[in-house]
Amino acid sequence: MIYLKMKISKNKSLKNLNQYGVDANAKIFVELEDLNDIQELENSKILDNEKFLILGDGNNILFRDNFDGVVIKPKFKGKKIIKEDDKNVWIEIYSGEDWEEFVTWAVDNNYQGIENMTMIPSSIGGAVSQNIAAYGQNIMDVVESVETFDLQKKEFKTFTNEECEYGYRSSIFKRKYKSRFLLISAVFKLNKVANELETSYHERASRYGSLEEELRTFAEEPYNIKDVMIAVQNLRTKKLPSVDEYGTCGSVFSNPVVTKEKFFELSKIISELQSYPIDKLQYTRKDWFNVNEEYVKIPAGRIIDQLGWLGKWEGDVGVYDKHALCVVTNRKASGKEVFDFLEKIRQNVKESYDIDLDYEINII
Ligand SMILES: Cc1cc2nc3c(=O)[nH]c(=O)nc-3n(C[C@H](O)[C@H](O)[C@H](O)COP(=O)(O)OP(=O)(O)OC[C@H]3O[C@@H](n4cnc5c(N)ncnc54)[C@H](O)[C@@H]3O)c2cc1C
Repeated sequence: MIYLKMKISKNKSLKNLNQYGVDANAKIFVELEDLNDIQELENSKILDNEKFLILGDGNNILFRDNFDGVVIKPKFKGKKIIKEDDKNVWIEIYSGEDWEEFVTWAVDNNYQGIENMTMIPSSIGGAVSQNIAAYGQNIMDVVESVETFDLQKKEFKTFTNEECEYGYRSSIFKRKYKSRFLLISAVFKLNKVANELETSYHERASRYGSLEEELRTFAEEPYNIKDVMIAVQNLRTKKLPSVDEYGTCGSVFSNPVVTKEKFFELSKIISELQSYPIDKLQYTRKDWFNVNEEYVKIPAGRIIDQLGWLGKWEGDVGVYDKHALCVVTNRKASGKEVFDFLEKIRQNVKESYDIDLDYEINII
């Protein structure tokens, strides 16, 4: 008898594996603990299936219904420093590790580069795939390379940062090759000399002030890495829903890009509507986009707020009362209910302002 270590279940409930707490089943569910499991997966018939979904910690996924295919859940653990010099440290970390634990570890060791991205619920795999960003920092600025397993060709492949094709909250793994490349580990390059803290992030329309303002309330200059992390945590706690209290995937829609002309038109009817140059909204790397001076990004949350959605609930789904871009649930709503509610908001925005909102979350 062959002993199979790789864990496979049928009709597995995903209710506790997605942050909305939607009650959906996976036809086949595979848990991978280590690289031996990948070899086993490679030799099994599972890869002959046609439909795959790689699941991280489910913080950015809405299941509208049961998943009629194979859900693969990588649980690879471990991290190690693979190189360092006077200025930098290179860390390889496996995709099943928790992002927040990594941030805390980096801050405790005085490694700079990810402290502004604290309190983003995520696995490493999810973070690298989604190109997470917050308070002026982006994961694409610190990822050096990504080790993957190609589920289609059944071979390992290393992606350089450039090959990840990073864009606004997306990557080649999220867009072009959805659930084809299983992220195994990533190498991060962090700074040992923290002389470039990112404290410039400023939400002009926010009631909660800027990062600098928050820092001044409890710390003294020169600020250190931990001060910045705490300041971001303070701001996030005031503004964002807690996953302990709500079913939430954070921001559900991306901020739309409109012409400057359209922005001026909208700002006559939407008070305090801000605009951001499209290359600067969440990115520091200017050459990434074809910057077009004709267009700006505008905050989707302000538009949704203007239409009266803030704090509005229908049954078990609602808009968080402190942030209109966060659609939350009491974890009793079905995937369809959440989706219908989201579509209602999209339709309302389209009819009122002729703007098509794109989903930031992964709708399955
Ligand atoms: C309260 C809250 C606040 C948030 N704030 C922010 C924020 O400030 N900034 C931000 O950028 N995001 C934010 N998010 C969104 C979310 O945290 C991120 O998108 C996160 O990276 C999702 O990670 P996950 O492990 O849960 O991935 P999942 O939701 O499980 O999956 C997300 C995507 O990654 C893919 N994926 C996951 N793991 C792997 C892997 N090992 N190999 C290949 N593909 C994989 C999935 O197939 C899917 O396409 C927030 C979410 C919540 C709930």
